[in-house]
Amino acid sequence: MIVSAQKPWEEILGYLEGESNIFILGCNGCAEASGTGGPAQVAEMQQKLEEAGKRVTGAMVIDFLCQRALVKSRLRPRTEQVVAADSILVMTCGLGVQAVATSVNKVCHPACDTINMGGSRGEWTGSDRCLECGECLLEYTGGICPLTACTKSLLNGACGGASNGKCELDPDKDCGWELIYERLKQKNQLRKLRRFIPPKDYSKMMPSPKMMSTALWALEKTG
Ligand code: SF4
Ligand code: SF4
Repeated sequence: MIVSAQKPWEEILGYLEGESNIFILGCNGCAEASGTGGPAQVAEMQQKLEEAGKRVTGAMVIDFLCQRALVKSRLRPRTEQVVAADSILVMTCGLGVQAVATSVNKVCHPACDTINMGGSRGEWTGSDRCLECGECLLEYTGGICPLTACTKSLLNGACGGASNGKCELDPDKDCGWELIYERLKQKNQLRKLRRFIPPKDYSKMMPSPKMMSTALWALEKTG
C-alpha cells in the first residue's frame, strides 16, 4: 500500500489560481484506504471547490489511478466533462498523478503528498516511480517526478549534459528534465520552469514515528 496525505487546502487552491473549471479524480485503491482520495474525500473536495467559486465539471473515483489503461478506459465516457475542465485535480499518490498526467492531455494538479512507509511493498512496474518524498512536486514538473526521472534527482534541471535526449550518466535512459520540458510545453505550462524549487526537506522522506507505530507499517516492513 502507498500512503498519502492531503496537501493543505491553501496549497491546492493556489495550484488552481486562474482556473475556473475543475475535474476531480479520486482513487479507490490506496488513496481510499489513506482517507485522502476515496469517494468521501472527492465529494468533500467538490463541495469545497464549489464554495470557493469553482465549477466542478465532473468528479469520479477510479479503482486504481496508477493503472494507465484503467485511467484511459474509465475516463472515456467522461470525455466531455474532462474537455470542459481547465485542469484535473488528482487526489492520490505520486504514481497515480503521474499515470493521469501521462494519459490525459490536461494540466494535472496533485492534491496529495506521498508518505514514506519505510518498508517494502509491491513495486509498480511501469516507468512512473515515486520515492515517497513527503512533499510532492508534480505540480511544477508536468506530472513527471524529478526525483525519479532525473538520474541526479535534480529539482531545477536540466544539468546540461544530455545528448540526443539521453542522460549523460545513463545513455539508455531518457533525460528526465527534457521529458519534463516537453510535457510542460505540450500542456502550455512552460512558465512553471521559471519557478525555483527550493531544496527539499529530506527529513520528510523518513517514516514518521507515528507511522512506525502502526500495524500497517509493521506489515509492510516484514512483507
Ligand atoms: S515528487 Fe516524486 S517522489 Fe515526491 S511524492 Fe511526488 S512523485 Fe513521489
Ligand atoms: S542528463 Fe538529464 S536526467 Fe541525466 S542527470 Fe542531467 S538532467 Fe538529469
